[in-house]
This record gives sequence, C-alpha cells and structure tokens, in this order.
Amino acid sequence: MIETKTPALAITDLAKTYHNGKEALKGINLTVEQGDFFALLGPNGAGKSTTISIITGLLDATRGHIEIFGHDHISDMRNAKSMVGLVPQDFNFNQFELCEEILINQAGYFGVPRKIAKERAKKYLDLLHLTDKARVMARNLSGGMKRRLLIARALMHEPNLLILDEPTAGVDIEIRRQTWDLLQKINATGTTIILTTHYLEEAELLCKNIAIINHGEIVQHCSMDALLRQLQSESFVLSLSEPLSTIPNSIEGLTFTAINPMTLEVEIQKPHSVTSVFDILKDHSINVDTLRNKANRLEELFIKLTSNKEVE
Ligand code: ADP
Repeated sequence: MIETKTPALAITDLAKTYHNGKEALKGINLTVEQGDFFALLGPNGAGKSTTISIITGLLDATRGHIEIFGHDHISDMRNAKSMVGLVPQDFNFNQFELCEEILINQAGYFGVPRKIAKERAKKYLDLLHLTDKARVMARNLSGGMKRRLLIARALMHEPNLLILDEPTAGVDIEIRRQTWDLLQKINATGTTIILTTHYLEEAELLCKNIAIINHGEIVQHCSMDALLRQLQSESFVLSLSEPLSTIPNSIEGLTFTAINPMTLEVEIQKPHSVTSVFDILKDHSINVDTLRNKANRLEELFIKLTSNKEVE
C-alpha cells in the first residue's frame, strides 16, 4: 500500500468577503505537500495576502476549512499555529529592540524556554548572516538585513511550514539571490515553504509546485514543470555580428522579425528548437554574437492565464 503523507496545508472552499462587500476569495481549494517549495502567484489584489492572513490566524474566513499538518486551524488552533512561521511584507518588529531580543521574545510567544531561545537566536542569526548584529538595534540594520531578521524571527519556534509574503519585493538583485540561497537551504532541511511573489522568475527558479490566483480564484494549480510545458512558443532576441542584408523568410513555427539591422527576433513554436533557427541562419550566412530569451516564459503564460478575466 502506498503511504500518503498528511499535506502540510490543505485548504477547502475558502472564501472571504470583507465588510465592504469585497469578495476577496471565492471558495479556493489548495493543497501543499510536506517538503514542497510552493509559489502562490498572482497580480495585485488577487487575494494572496488575504489567504495568508487566514492561514496564519490574523483574519477570519467567511467560509471554508484549513488544515495545517492535519491540525484544524480553528478547533486545533494552538497546534496549527505552532506549525507555521510567517515572514510578513512589513518590518513589523520594534525598531528600538536589539536583534537578539526580537528573536528571543518571539520564541517566548511560542513557549520556548529562554535558555533554548538564546541558543536558537544564535543559531538563526548565524544562518541568516546576522551574528555580528545580535546586539544592534533593529532600526540600524539595512533593508536587506531587516528582511533576514524577519526570516530568523519566523524560524525561532522551528515551524514545519514557513510562509513568506513577497520576500524579495523591492530588494536589489544581490539580496534577492542571497534570499533565494537561504530559502533553498531552509527547504533542504525539510521545512515546507510557501511564498507569494510577483517575480515570476523567482517562482520558476525556486518552486516545485505552483498555484496562480486571480480575482479570488485559483486559475492554475500544478507542478512548475507542467506549467512550463504548457508554453508552446518562446521568443529569442539575436544580436548579430554584421548588419543584416536579408531577413530569413518565416516558415510555419518560426517567425523572424528584424528589430534593427543588428538585431533579429525569432519566435519558435514546438517542435522547432533553437537548432532549427541556427540552420536557417547558416543558410543565409548570418552570424550571431549573442542570444537571449525575449521574455520570461512564465510571464508570458501568466499574462495569457489572467488576461481574459475581468479587470478590477
Ligand atoms: P494580494 O495580496 O493578492 O495583492 P489581497 O488579499 O491583499 O490581494 O486583496 C484581495 C482583494 O481584497 C483586493 O481587491 C483588496 O482591495 C481587497 N481587500 C484587502 N483587504 C481588504 C480590507 N481590509 N477591506 C476591504 N477589502 C480588502
């Protein structure tokens, strides 16, 4: 018999209507398996934060059911909450407290004895490269360090599920990369991770599974691989070694467009590949210096999936 593990998160028919009548969630279903690295993607106003706020007990649902590692988030709230660590978007800690104290106090809320909390604070400051900031007031940290402090804080009660709300929104590429490395490290230890993001390449790079939410509805819930397979066409931009004398004729599945004499764009549909492009270019004696993807493929798919819905 195949043993099925309890999901890290199981959401059934979750709905939320705010007091002003706004139907932010229209009865969503979502399952995240243990150990997963899961992305909840969606444009602004899609319902991502509402979903996270309900999971973490900050907001009441209008309807629906949530289980976190098998614990009902209402009737077994204590256990359910102890399973989850939240990294919010805002720096919602006391800016005048020392980093170490912020972590130790957080552990205290979850009933971790102070001695253990101190050891953990050391461990997580170290993991997040903040060891030398232990006795520094949070307000004196850079933006990137403050974000890392939020992650350290969320880990202090050693949750099995870490949820991050737009963890890299507005941070520079260097800090984004560092954050990705860290999250991969944390996931490798067995912690299930769910993140919301606008950065589609972030989801593509990190996540095994994905749900796309739009106007309070899940429009896609599948593996990242399956999602990427749905994309049949890909566009490339080619920088040429010499100015174009002729533009290759487009054939079925391969469309060439000259952007300027030194730049050619090609849209490739399956089963064609980049190899077919190079064969044609060779026939025309066109030499290519560099080649790059025109757009992120996930971005293209995302636009396709969400563009036919009503606009707010
Ligand atoms: P996202 O996180 O995907 O940007 P949200 O969950 O924040 O989306 O919001 C979903 C919808 O609910 C949006 O239309 C938003 O304007 C609305 N909304 C969010 N919070 C409230 C609130 N407190 N009162 C009324 N409407 C809200």
